[in-house]
Amino acid sequence: MPGDVGPTVGVLALQGASGLHLEVLTRLGVAAREVRTTAELDAVDALVIPGGESTTMSRLLEVNQLFDPLRERLDSGMPALGTCAGMILLASAILDGRPDQRPLGAIDIDVRRNAFGRQIDSFEADLPVVGLDSPLHAVFIRAPLVERVGDAVEVLATVEDRPVCCRQGPVMVSSFHPELSDDHRLHELFLATVAAVR
Ligand code: GLN
Repeated sequence: MPGDVGPTVGVLALQGASGLHLEVLTRLGVAAREVRTTAELDAVDALVIPGGESTTMSRLLEVNQLFDPLRERLDSGMPALGTCAGMILLASAILDGRPDQRPLGAIDIDVRRNAFGRQIDSFEADLPVVGLDSPLHAVFIRAPLVERVGDAVEVLATVEDRPVCCRQGPVMVSSFHPELSDDHRLHELFLATVAAVR
């Protein structure tokens, strides 16, 4: 958009639920675009890594030679929001992943795949979130369990004392799918971080 000085936010679109994140970001008035290549990564100020299947996304990051450039951007402070599989990819350690699955190490948490709410596979909850003045409706689908949280990590929300939303500097993660409800305040919280570091 001519004269637009706002950030461009990418959504990793190798696999998974990228479309709804793009819609939410667009509805919030942000320039949002799909990221599948290093050139597309270079053109964004921040990145959303959606839910989906983290083992497949990891493999596609490697196949498309995007893993190392993405890790470099994250190391140099690019804001990122990772939801569900995205949380798994951004973690420091992945438990029950593929043996060759490398973590991006952008937030100091260890996560175990498919370990949260195993009995019910998928569930919904209204969550108090630090920074939001009323509970957020959260949809969990085969969610990862956060098994360790480093000292530098802020826990923004919990379910039964387990962290389900965390932040470390410009990196936010949730084990739920904020794009699946009509409540877009988690994306807004993330965009506030993006604006703050620009
Ligand atoms: N279970 C998936 C994984 O391990 C994550 C599920 C999701 O993103 N909804 O990648």
